[in-house]
Amino acid sequence: MDSNKTYLSKAITLIESTLASHQQPAQELIMRCLPFSGKSIRIGISGSPGVGKSTFIESFGKFLFGKNYKIAVLAIDPSSNRSKGSILGDKTRMEELSSLQNVFIRPSPSSGTLGGVARKTREAIILCEAAGFDLIIVETVGVGQSETAVHSLVDFFLLLLLPGAGDELQGIKRGIMEMADAILINKADGENIAKAQIALAEIRNALHFFRLKDSEWSPVAELCSAKDSTGIPEIWDVVCRYIDQSKSTGYFEKRRIEQYMQTLYKSIEEALMTNFLHSPGISDGLNQMEARIKAGEISSYQAANELLKLYSK
Ligand code: GDP
Repeated sequence: MDSNKTYLSKAITLIESTLASHQQPAQELIMRCLPFSGKSIRIGISGSPGVGKSTFIESFGKFLFGKNYKIAVLAIDPSSNRSKGSILGDKTRMEELSSLQNVFIRPSPSSGTLGGVARKTREAIILCEAAGFDLIIVETVGVGQSETAVHSLVDFFLLLLLPGAGDELQGIKRGIMEMADAILINKADGENIAKAQIALAEIRNALHFFRLKDSEWSPVAELCSAKDSTGIPEIWDVVCRYIDQSKSTGYFEKRRIEQYMQTLYKSIEEALMTNFLHSPGISDGLNQMEARIKAGEISSYQAANELLKLYSK
């Protein structure tokens, strides 16, 4: 498996490369891996910085390692190219977990747009699955849009919160909570326990007001302490229940297909946009149209039409 990890690392570096000469071999590699992919459980984990994501993944990962899962941890971190602190770049994170055989940890690509990073992560998932990893964790920091990106890549979405739910609930966008299949209040240990229990009650209460999910799954809220490894087997039970339920209703397969279709359309959109922006005259045209919109001479809609006419010439 160790040599596998080295090859896998190299393969991911290839697909992350922006060199023109790497694009064709990268796509070929993905095509070859595709038939061997798709068999893992994909879990997304999100939460604000400091909530305990890496401590949780370390604890959860070790537990799953004990159950003979082969775990790959990938990250989506749109901020990593701005602030140097890539969420997985720091070597001290998940040190014990990363030293285990059968565990592969990969930091987020160090640059790129959120869309680009999400695409690379989707491709990295395929490579990890083909390399035999059967549990994929995609981590993201709670900044809003990246949750949506992670949600579109995974089967199960887990949100970590801190005790002190009142403040926390206000800080967290409702949409993110609505995406969650489970919410864990982490750091429910020591002096935090009473606060964590209040937070749990508030969150459970809030969950009642969310509309029923397409999956027909009622999101679960629980306490955990990543530090003391409490609540870890319980959350794994929740994931298993979700997977069993969604497989038996057919939702699991349906959702994966939906995700692939979303990617199809997103890829077309991105390619068209790139093509459009690089077409002759478009750059100047855009500048002119922006000025005319600001001056109130033309509506945005008309301007778009003019530019598209120019593009299709
Ligand atoms: P991340 O930024 O979300 O990845 O958070 P980290 O895992 O780096 O944790 C941030 C801080 O919270 C560290 O000092 C951890 O030791 C601490 N921490 C993480 N989980 C727990 C927990 O369950 N209980 C307590 N008391 N502290 C924790």
